[in-house]
Amino acid sequence: MKDETLCLHAGYEPENGSPGVMPIVQSTTYRFDSTERIGDIFDHPTEAYIYSRFANPTVDAVEKKIAALEGGVGAMCTSSGQAANLFAVLNLCSAGDSLICSSAIYGGTINLFAVTLKRFGIECIFVSPEATDEELDAAFKENTKCVFGETIANPALVVCDIEKFANAAHRHGVPFLIDNTFATPVLCKPFEFGADIVTHSTTKYMDGHAVQGGGVIVDSGNFDWTTPEAMQKFPEFTEPDASYHGTVYTEEFGRSAYIVKCRMQLMRDFGAYPSAHSAFLLNLGLETLAVRMPRYCANALAVAKFLSSSDKVESVSYPGLEGDREHALAEKYLKGHGSGVISFVIKGGKEKAVQFMDALHLACNEVHVADIRSCVLHPASETHRQLTDEQLVAAGINPGMIRFSCGLENIDDILDDIKRALAKVK
Ligand SMILES: *Cc1c(COP(=O)(O)O)cnc(C)c1O
Repeated sequence: MKDETLCLHAGYEPENGSPGVMPIVQSTTYRFDSTERIGDIFDHPTEAYIYSRFANPTVDAVEKKIAALEGGVGAMCTSSGQAANLFAVLNLCSAGDSLICSSAIYGGTINLFAVTLKRFGIECIFVSPEATDEELDAAFKENTKCVFGETIANPALVVCDIEKFANAAHRHGVPFLIDNTFATPVLCKPFEFGADIVTHSTTKYMDGHAVQGGGVIVDSGNFDWTTPEAMQKFPEFTEPDASYHGTVYTEEFGRSAYIVKCRMQLMRDFGAYPSAHSAFLLNLGLETLAVRMPRYCANALAVAKFLSSSDKVESVSYPGLEGDREHALAEKYLKGHGSGVISFVIKGGKEKAVQFMDALHLACNEVHVADIRSCVLHPASETHRQLTDEQLVAAGINPGMIRFSCGLENIDDILDDIKRALAKVK
């Protein structure tokens, strides 16, 4: 089925006479008629729910819907996008390992990988999104366990060359992980281009309404953990898990080994699972995702075109814009679109950027993006203030850069607001 249909129907099939909408199963526990049955479920944890720290029917239905949209074998929701990226990497890397990461990614992820994972003994080696095959090959070490990228980098709007990064990862026998938050599966399905694992901050377009934070990890099922090379690099997939009474993930769960291991080890131990109520709200957002995305793209394209023609604007980045440096990659990976997010630089730097932002009425100044309402943010002084100047440059962020996230208001009203605010920049 196509995306619009999956958004509405995947993940939950009501039985005869049961609720038409997946109900909120507001219960931490599930009752069974015998200790033996509970023992059984501990042995076969994917067959029933036992405890809502790592599985819940409402969340499960949303996980199945997102897996269907991405074309994966399974998904696991988390309580934030940060938790999704953390778990996606920790499911592969332990102390003493390294990962390779495109430098054009979300600032929070840069900090997580470069600062916090370092404290856990995991080294992140950053590479340019434009690295050649030779440069990518040179970044690999004996202990490299995965490669990480972001489909449309927040906020630099650099489009990841998914095939290039996936091929490099596969040449070195490791999976390619990609944060698909801004593109959503509606604009890009990274598994079709060779990515192995997809993550999202569902806080953004998937929720869409700015009502709850969340994340998700989706497993393509395509990475073969049972080759001799993989067994040596990732013994946790093919050797008995002492913390789970000897389970061998590849034997018991086949192509879902990665995502089941992630749930049974990391979610069980760290417990960053969303509540049923959050999943219910996320599901409402997902129901309209495929209808909303084209409108965000159309509004953003109109805004990008207008800004490019303004003499108060120094530069505009929008992958959907013809002539944008990312447009060729957008044609290949995003059906020529660029999501609802634009970044641009006002002439006169930071001070003028702030003047413009404070003069907007409709677009609100808020620390959010990919919302149903238009919003605006100054990365250098807000979300990315923890980055050094060099990290800002590597992440593609100019100090005067504004990130404008187009909502679903009428385009005439969005443009009027921008025109009025630009006129106030003196
Ligand atoms: C917002 C964001 C995150 C972090 O997600 P949270 O839900 O805020 O934890 C990760 N990656 C990208 C691309 C994001 O935009």
